[in-house]
Amino acid sequence: MTGPESEGKQVRRAVCPGSFDPITNGHLDIIARASSLYDEVYVAVMINQSKKGLFEIEERIDLIHQVTAEYGNVRVESFHGLLVDFCKQREIPAIVKGLRAVSDFDYELQMAQMNNGLSGVETLFIPTNPTYSFLSSSLVKEVATWGGDVAHLVPPLVLDALRDRLTQH
Ligand code: ADP
Repeated sequence: MTGPESEGKQVRRAVCPGSFDPITNGHLDIIARASSLYDEVYVAVMINQSKKGLFEIEERIDLIHQVTAEYGNVRVESFHGLLVDFCKQREIPAIVKGLRAVSDFDYELQMAQMNNGLSGVETLFIPTNPTYSFLSSSLVKEVATWGGDVAHLVPPLVLDALRDRLTQH
């Protein structure tokens, strides 16, 4: 075994949560930056039973796996229920989130304070790369549905998956 655990050091873990339907370059930028700050980064794909996405949870996980493989320290898992329970079960002390604009802040602050109050887990905010500050999965899906070009907004693998999925609909 190599790495911090074998040297008796504590492994620094963080989680990037979201729905990732599908993963975009904005998500990927945050995951990449988190992966350079932490020993292990979990990407937690939220299962929302009341909202059917364009991609099944397993498809989202598979896409994230493939596009994060090069980082070498990213794990991808699904979760439902409370994110703080996901964190507790895996000894993850930190949640990493991207902040796109001031409009994200109000809700993110409430969630961060709630999660800290529930279990002591910390939330760290990384300012979005300005190139992606307008970017969301829902916008990508909407633009792609109407034939708009989203090639610069998602990894090539995701672009192919989107094209396949949207031509089936
Ligand atoms: P969305 O449907 O808004 O794309 P997700 O629920 O999948 O969102 O997003 C999960 C998290 O990923 C967000 O809370 C945010 O921290 C981060 N994120 C989403 N889009 C971006 C982006 N364009 N730039 C940076 N971070 C982002």
